Amino acid sequence: MRRRSGAVNLRRSSAGWARGGRAGLNAVLRGLSAASPEFRATVRGLSAAVATGALHDWLAARAAAVVEAARRDSPAYHALLRGLPGIPSRAAPLAALPVMDKQTFRGAPLEQWLSRRLPHLMRREVATSGSSGDPFVFFRSRRLTDYAMTLRAMREFDRWALAAPPARMVSTWSEEGVQEIRHELRSIYPRRLYVTNLSPEVAVDAVRAFQPQIIDGRAQAVFRLVDALARADALPTSLRAVRFTQETLFEHQRRHIEHAAGVPVFARYGSEELTGAFAHSCRAGRYHVHPLIGCVEILDASGRSTPRGETGRIVATSFVNTAMPFIRYDTGDMAQRPATDTCPCGSPYPSFGSLEVSRRHGIRARDGRVFTDALLAQYLILDIGGVSPHVLGFQYRQLGEAHWRMEVGFHHGAACAELLRRMQARADTLFLPALTLEISSTDTLWRTEAGKRVLVKPLGVS
Ligand SMILES: [Zn+2]
Repeated sequence: MRRRSGAVNLRRSSAGWARGGRAGLNAVLRGLSAASPEFRATVRGLSAAVATGALHDWLAARAAAVVEAARRDSPAYHALLRGLPGIPSRAAPLAALPVMDKQTFRGAPLEQWLSRRLPHLMRREVATSGSSGDPFVFFRSRRLTDYAMTLRAMREFDRWALAAPPARMVSTWSEEGVQEIRHELRSIYPRRLYVTNLSPEVAVDAVRAFQPQIIDGRAQAVFRLVDALARADALPTSLRAVRFTQETLFEHQRRHIEHAAGVPVFARYGSEELTGAFAHSCRAGRYHVHPLIGCVEILDASGRSTPRGETGRIVATSFVNTAMPFIRYDTGDMAQRPATDTCPCGSPYPSFGSLEVSRRHGIRARDGRVFTDALLAQYLILDIGGVSPHVLGFQYRQLGEAHWRMEVGFHHGAACAELLRRMQARADTLFLPALTLEISSTDTLWRTEAGKRVLVKPLGVS
């Protein structure tokens, strides 16, 4: 586990120049993107809409523009929306459109969903681990304007949590044993210390020395890191907030962090498809969707708006993926539609209530550690080169105490035996003896009657 623990000091001293260079390049990139006339007009439009109480209409117009562009520029959207009665009104541009999911996108060749207006260089292929059970390949926009909108939303969310963007942030990362300081191109954070999701406890000394303003990452890894810092009496005095994402943070864990660290705990909601900064929790506990990034509907199983106060599916429309539009996209997550539009925190941005990052289950090891199904998928599917394109889906079946089987469905023609051998070797290295995880292939992926994937079957569930 401590394989790379010496990396912190080494990198800090030798990579200083490179970091400075990248920081300069980042500033140039930020300046360039923020100078885009489209970005400036959109931000001005949003400010005016908020000031005059016309945000609802402004969002509807933005959504209408996204739908219109998709219909015009993407052949698959053109076919999908053909025969529909057109966009019924600019006030409700989405209501008549179908709700889409990964299956919808698989219904046509990937290239058919891409905008013909955006040159190849302006998009980037992204493969997701399928932490929801369905690995997925799509394209993300590289347009500077889309980048600028995302950046703007991230900075605003940072101001909610910290009053200013953090200069030093600790992020959890999936790579085994990682513990190093990086500065990435296209990052707004000047310095980041990455610590492994698998055993964040080993990073206690490095985190204390780094003096971060924020600790950010997968909920369960963040919880374990803060807990370990508190036990070692090593909580950085610089810490101003803790922020988690991707997984559920249970209420008792949130209270534990707030009590131990004495700082507020925030949550970020997003996904690979929607950008990680789609929504952010406020001090009133709601999640606000940033209007520059997109909009969200909370819908029931039949696609109608959920009654206020009730829980429904999060169906999102992205405004920042010009390369491959996501319109009325079923995220697979559930949230409560709030009883009132206005939030006690005062933010005018649309919000949803208590979020249930669905299908996240704890898989408990013999030493008391809890791994989420999503984290295991990250290590065993996404992080092993060449595996994810062959995986159709996966599920976990409990066989005994700290003994599970990961059942993987492969695409026809995949070299299953070789893929399984590599996955098994990784699982044994990472998790034995604390957790026994057998990897096997399956032809049957469980679904509910409604067609939703069921990821985890604990003992006693047939
Ligand atoms: Zn709020």
